[in-house]
Amino acid sequence: MSVPRLNGTCPECAADFALPAGVMVNELLSCPDCGAELEVLGLDPVELANAPDVQEDWGE
Ligand SMILES: [Zn+2]
Repeated sequence: MSVPRLNGTCPECAADFALPAGVMVNELLSCPDCGAELEVLGLDPVELANAPDVQEDWGE
């Protein structure tokens, strides 16, 4: 059995790269080209967006 390879395009630098096998929607990836943090919005078709800076303080 082969896992289908998905390709995405970085919204930051427009590089095409292969997504990791088994990638899930809402997963965070970093672009192998520019290192931008990307969030997977969809897989069919593949849609990537810049991930917001992760803030740990949700309380205030
Ligand atoms: Zn990039």
